[in-house]
Order: sequence, then C-alpha cells, then structure tokens
Amino acid sequence: MKKLAAGNWKMNGTKASLAEVSALLAAHPAPVCEMLLCPPATLIDRMAETAKGTTLLVGAQDSHAKPQGAHTGDLSVAMLKDAGATHVIVGHSERRTDHGETDDLVRAKAQAVVDAGLIAIVCIGETEAERDAGQTLAVIGTQLDGSIPLGATATNVVVAYEPVWAIGTGRTPTLSEIAEVHSFLRGRLRGLVGEEAAGVRILYGGSVKPSNATDIFAVPHVDGALVGGASLKAADFGAIVAALSAA
Ligand code: PEP
Repeated sequence: MKKLAAGNWKMNGTKASLAEVSALLAAHPAPVCEMLLCPPATLIDRMAETAKGTTLLVGAQDSHAKPQGAHTGDLSVAMLKDAGATHVIVGHSERRTDHGETDDLVRAKAQAVVDAGLIAIVCIGETEAERDAGQTLAVIGTQLDGSIPLGATATNVVVAYEPVWAIGTGRTPTLSEIAEVHSFLRGRLRGLVGEEAAGVRILYGGSVKPSNATDIFAVPHVDGALVGGASLKAADFGAIVAALSAA
C-alpha cells in the first residue's frame, strides 16, 4: 500500500497560490508516498495543468451526489473529473457541521465518486464532547458504517480519521489515542469490506504539521495524513510529505 499525504486547501487560494504548487514540485519531484492536493474547485483545472507530467494528484473537497440537474452552485463528480480531479473528499466535518451533511448523504456522495471511477476520501471524527463522554469509538464506528459506499475497495476508498476538536486548533490526540482509533477502524473495515480492509488507507487528520508528522506516521495503521493549514505552504507540506516518505 502506498501511503498518502493529502492536502485540503479549504476556502483558500487563488491563481497566485499555484506558485506554492510549483515550489512543492521543485522540492519533491518524486516522493515515495502519494501526494495529493485538494484546492477550491475554482483551481482544480489550473492545478491539474500545473501537475501534468508530475506525481502530484489533484482532488476536490466535495461533490454533489447527483450526476446533473437543478442544483444551483453545486458540482457533480463528472464535472470534477473533467476538471482533472482523481479524488474527492466527502463528509469533512466542516461540511457535516456547516451544511448539515448526514451519514446517508455522505454515503450517497461517496457512492457517486466511486461509481465515476474516482477515489473517495471519507472523513469521520468525534467532537470534543463525544470524546469526553467516552463515545469516540461508538461515534466513529457508526459514521464509518453509515458513510462507506457499496463496492468499497482498497483502491477506490480512503478513510480519514479527523477528530473535530483537533482540526485547525493546534491540538492533537495522544499517539496512543490515535493508535486506538486507527486499529479500531482497521477492524471495523474488515467487517465492512472483508480482506480489502488490509489495504484501505486510513489517514489521520487534525493539526498535522512538520513538527509532529514523524511521530504520528510511526503509529500503527496510520497510512498518511489529511492536512489542512499546513498544506497551504510548500515548505510545510513538503516536510510532511518527506516525513511520510521516510516512515
Ligand atoms: C482538515 O481540514 O482536514 C484538517 C485536518 O485541518 P488542519 O490540518 O488545519 O487541522
């Protein structure tokens, strides 16, 4: 299994930001791990052009579950694929919170992604209140069961464990808490997709940065990272890519 360093630019970036992509590619032209950036949809096409002929993969941060129709402001998987996306993040906690996305909707989106031949990065994670109440495994188990599409395999689905309270806060779970969750998820995936589970990448996300990446990547069943803030700067994301390549 190739490990995956995935960057989520969220609602950040304009044409000028592509200079960071060029700098990243100049410093890391052939990393051992896979390297993916998910810019805002407005930049997918241009970033895919910049990435042409390189190892950089380009993805989207969300998609609609339907193939086309009267859904003002939304984008279908086919449109994202046409723009150059190979991956789509679904169920990010910011979408679950800001747009009320449920497991059912996340699963429908993930289904649309894999049915179109793209890779779905399915995000799950507990809130701080849920962790404090000792509900972490119950919550993420339910989210995983409810969000994984039919026909999920090691090549069309990636799972991202992102504790909501760790996103953008500079706080992270302890390494043993990350280990507990990732090992739980590997077992839960076995129940959902059988032997394929061994090859499904399980990413950790939530305040990953150059200073903690090496430690996090040494945790069993951590197969990469979904990185927000630190993916915006070539130097930071490049350092995370290098740490994952060395893991
Ligand atoms: C994210 O948005 O998926 C994320 C993990 O953000 P950050 O790395 O900034 O915590």
